[in-house]
Amino acid sequence: MRKWRRTHLTDERRQWAQLTRRTHKHAGKKVSITVEELLELLGDSCPICESRFVFHARGKEKIYSPTADRIDNNGPLSIKNTQVICLLCNTRKGSKEVS
Ligand SMILES: [Zn+2]
Repeated sequence: MRKWRRTHLTDERRQWAQLTRRTHKHAGKKVSITVEELLELLGDSCPICESRFVFHARGKEKIYSPTADRIDNNGPLSIKNTQVICLLCNTRKGSKEVS
């Protein structure tokens, strides 16, 4: 049984989660998080800057696109080591943490 509206709403989130796993794998990262777990972590807005997430077409990321950020950069992409923040915050965080 499918409620079309619900399915429609979750589709872009699901696509995002699948794409996120693929991108991290392609980049040679260890991915142990599932699509379902990523969807659990994905809120409506960025926990850092509180901007509402904007979903993008593939390859057209915007500053408020959700991104999976590893809390410990040496760890795997797992449910415990991942937070979903916007691209802008992820970029800021990344440049700050480069040692
Ligand atoms: Zn943010």
